[in-house]
Amino acid sequence: MADPVPVSELPTLSLLYKLNRINPADGSEPAYTPNAIFNDKISVIKQDITTLSIDSIVNAANNTLLGGGGVDGAIHRAAGPDLYDECETLNGCETGSAKITDGYELPAKKVIHAVGPIYWSTKREGKHTSLLSGCYRKSLELAVENGLKSIAFSALSTGVYGYPSGEASEVALNTVRTFFEEGKADGLERVVFCNFLQKDEDAYFKNLPKYFPPVSNAEPSEQPTETSTDVKDLATKLPDPPAADPKHPDEPDTKKQKTDSSDDDFVVVDKEEVKEAEAASKSA
Ligand code: ADP
Repeated sequence: MADPVPVSELPTLSLLYKLNRINPADGSEPAYTPNAIFNDKISVIKQDITTLSIDSIVNAANNTLLGGGGVDGAIHRAAGPDLYDECETLNGCETGSAKITDGYELPAKKVIHAVGPIYWSTKREGKHTSLLSGCYRKSLELAVENGLKSIAFSALSTGVYGYPSGEASEVALNTVRTFFEEGKADGLERVVFCNFLQKDEDAYFKNLPKYFPPVSNAEPSEQPTETSTDVKDLATKLPDPPAADPKHPDEPDTKKQKTDSSDDDFVVVDKEEVKEAEAASKSA
């Protein structure tokens, strides 16, 4: 298994803007005002969520909470059988909600099991947005109630449950931003959107500037002197990309990952960008 990746190595949204890794011009008009504190709490990565050494990861579970394919299967395999045993005691979970367990053999302390909606059937009833939003809100609430400082979301419902990546990312971002605006996330230090496929990362990169717009250069940066060093460290430490959705020979194909992704490179920052950021910091 790949080395665990600590939260401190995940680039913040503030850093991604600084590196011009996310271009605000690509997105729609901002729906909210820029907030540097919020941008320092957000990360977006393309990574196997089971490698994150973090307070909590959010699993895209099903109503039984007893495992399946996709990210659910990967999490159960990495956590070991004790996770299944604890899940058995939970009596399932309703769609649009979530329940929390220990992380067992995972580097993450806790797993929050969220049951996202199946897109087409819930859309017919006009419930898809509120159910998906409910997953994100309940997961954030569980993290706060349990005193957890960091949470990484998988892209709930965007696999076999068929939720389009763009729409799903907007629901996720809007729900997290609203939670922040309500002052409920003060104890949370990092909220990570952990994508596995390029299509999901693309959706976040497109929509992040709408919900978490960049703070203008004129405003003071939160960490003015540390950034270039942090970036250099980060670029050397980032792990190798997952080459494919983890599979297990015994995995049932009822929740098999649909993927049309052609590019699974885990690229958050590269060395050229680091040089540019350093040059920009020096000339600022
Ligand atoms: P759902 O049934 O909710 O759609 P899936 O597990 O099929 O759940 O997919 C949810 C998301 O999890 C998809 O975006 C998929 O690409 C992603 N995913 C699959 N494996 C992993 C993994 N190891 N780490 C992070 N995300 C993953």
